[in-house]
Amino acid sequence: MQPFEYTANPGRAVFGSGSIKKLPEEIKRLDKFKPLLLSTPQQEEQVRALEPILKDASITPAGLFSEATMHTPTHITDKALKYTKECGADCVVSFGGGSTIGLGKAISIRTGLEHVCIPTTYAGSEMTPILGETAEGKKTTRSDPKILPGTVIYDVDFTMTLPEALSATSGVNAIAHAVEALYARANNPIMTLFALEGTKALAEALPIIVNHPHDTDARSKAQYGAWLCAMCLGSVGMALHHKLCHTLGGSFNLPHAETHTIVLPHAIAYNAPKIPEVMKQLAGVLPGSDGDAIRGLNVLLAKLKVKRGLKEFGMKEEDVDKAAEIAVSNPYWNPREIEKGPLRETIRRCWAGEDAK
Ligand code: NAD
Repeated sequence: MQPFEYTANPGRAVFGSGSIKKLPEEIKRLDKFKPLLLSTPQQEEQVRALEPILKDASITPAGLFSEATMHTPTHITDKALKYTKECGADCVVSFGGGSTIGLGKAISIRTGLEHVCIPTTYAGSEMTPILGETAEGKKTTRSDPKILPGTVIYDVDFTMTLPEALSATSGVNAIAHAVEALYARANNPIMTLFALEGTKALAEALPIIVNHPHDTDARSKAQYGAWLCAMCLGSVGMALHHKLCHTLGGSFNLPHAETHTIVLPHAIAYNAPKIPEVMKQLAGVLPGSDGDAIRGLNVLLAKLKVKRGLKEFGMKEEDVDKAAEIAVSNPYWNPREIEKGPLRETIRRCWAGEDAK
């Protein structure tokens, strides 16, 4: 066996249908009593369902801030910080996907307040010490152990309303964390276990969710898979797939989860010649792969009925060259050297919506 290093993630996770009832207990466990609730405007009604649960346990929320926005713009964070101080909150509770959890992290790292998360998508931000923020149109990302939320409540009941299309793309976004962990430089046997189990759970559950969105068992399995995949993202560094999605999303204003979904099979096909062992492991957990992981990913995306081309989200053909230029301009570690010609072809295929090969 290769020597390895492993640091356990200290985040606490509470799972189960109805586990939201444990929210007051989890807040008191932290010795806190005045939580600030966070959500997007779209989920304000859902987050209000927490108020009676808290009040029944003699916890009165300090307030509700429902302006969380994609990419965590700092002007929204500043507004939320002002409100946090005014309302006298002693901890933050973020309820939603990566956008709301990003706001919770931004408040927590600036104030030192404890952060409890209730994730309602599969994106996985709740298990990572990473925070991406946008100021004047520029996105910067930082990592700090203090950013990692302390407590996460995974109550499947709040994922039942996640639309089928977003369930599919958010779930593939999670699979991408696991796949890149399999070949990360800091990979270790524990990460490999998490990554394969997480990918298997999601690859089995997502096609069921797309056809039967109210299937609680499939939703629970997807959430369990997303948690495992998120731990991979929070523990080891990512490579080509995540860097490419960051470039494409940031430079051409493409949607986060949808871009991850389109790029994943192509990024893995690019790396495949240098990661034969990983390709075998991955094929073993993807239904319909017939021993070929790329085939397994193509089959999965076909079952999920997702959009396959970046052009469907407004990216222009002439942007392919620009994207390749940007993608080679910032060197980073990847199992296969980043070569402009082959990478341009990878991006072109993503743009056109072709099957990966
Ligand atoms: P999101 O948080 O942007 O949510 C998308 C939309 O779906 C929002 O309108 C939200 O209110 C709604 N929604 C969420 N859950 C719902 C539910 N159960 N029912 C109905 N509507 C629901 O989407 P996301 O994909 O979770 O997060 C994307 C963002 O998270 C990006 O900005 C990305 O960069 C960030 N992210 C960060 C990390 C990290 O580790 N820092 C990891 C993954 C994603």
